[in-house]
Amino acid sequence: MLQTVSKAFFHLLAGNKTLQALASRYGMRGGSGFARRFIAGESMPDAIDAARTLQASGLSVTLDYLGEAVATPAEAESATRAYLGVIDAIAAAGIERNVSLKLTQLGLTIDRATSVDNLRRILDAAAAKQFFVRVDMEDSPYTGVTLDIFETMWQQDYRNVGVVLQSYLRRSETDAARMNALGARVRLVKGAYQESRDVAYRIKPEVDASFVRIMKRLLADGHYPAIATHDPAMIEATRAFAAERGIAAHAYEFQMLYGIRRDLQAALTRDGFRVRVYVPFGREWFSYFMRRLGERPANI
Ligand SMILES: Cc1cc2nc3c(=O)[nH]c(=O)nc-3n(C[C@H](O)[C@H](O)[C@H](O)COP(=O)(O)OP(=O)(O)OC[C@H]3O[C@@H](n4cnc5c(N)ncnc54)[C@H](O)[C@@H]3O)c2cc1C
Repeated sequence: MLQTVSKAFFHLLAGNKTLQALASRYGMRGGSGFARRFIAGESMPDAIDAARTLQASGLSVTLDYLGEAVATPAEAESATRAYLGVIDAIAAAGIERNVSLKLTQLGLTIDRATSVDNLRRILDAAAAKQFFVRVDMEDSPYTGVTLDIFETMWQQDYRNVGVVLQSYLRRSETDAARMNALGARVRLVKGAYQESRDVAYRIKPEVDASFVRIMKRLLADGHYPAIATHDPAMIEATRAFAAERGIAAHAYEFQMLYGIRRDLQAALTRDGFRVRVYVPFGREWFSYFMRRLGERPANI
């Protein structure tokens, strides 16, 4: 209950323009801005530095140039160009070639065709430089269309792309079967948005039980799945299932967010598991930051 209330509260705050303006002014200021715990920085060099540090300690990375729900074609174009620049900068820096992006950042809220065109441009540039691109999953009005766009790209022979499923959505088990049949790489998460009872499980035991069911499907029948969670119980369930089925540690990976449970990231790496850290950067960090607070109000 408390979790649901706080999530709703932070989603409400996320829409507050005054708060956003204030936070944006102070949150990343200097080396000790309060948002730095979860955001690698506002610039590309900040992100590259963070990635280098993580990679030096045996972790993998995916870089996320923050932004979502752009309102005009010009903003979608600018985000697309920024991603093309990110791809070039990562290749030049020699860090791992893996990025995550959101379709509403590429114009999905404006119209589907714009986001598809922009995604295609990014996937082409990414393929030419051997990048992997993960399409993040957003709130439920976009679930179906995101999976459809992903599938369209897959049918057009793009293989350097993966998708995300959220265990809080009731539909996700079916979607997992669909993605497994396609041969697609899935990142499994619990889900970060405020959703209604109609479409989503709302209490933790149900979300967790769904996570475990989908994790098993992905490990047993999927294609290099990413189990993205900081929850020790979910990680333990994954390790136990993999051991029981004789699934090798390199057949899947764990993923965690930048700045969260660094102890667990290090411990899993020491135990021989692959761990990828999601490294968000850029000036549009406010919504992402508020979702992290909503997950764990103690972060305040
Ligand atoms: C790599 C990665 C990519 C993601 N991509 C997406 C996406 O595309 N779409 C989407 O909807 N969601 C995404 N998420 C977020 C995800 O849906 C969850 O909201 C988030 O991971 C918290 O859930 P949890 O599995 O860690 O479990 P929870 O049950 O929320 O938390 C378990 C434990 O993890 C720790 N923890 C969790 N969150 C925090 C936090 N914010 N601060 C400090 N400690 C914390 C605490 O110890 C907590 O007890 C992603 C998460 C990861 C790790």
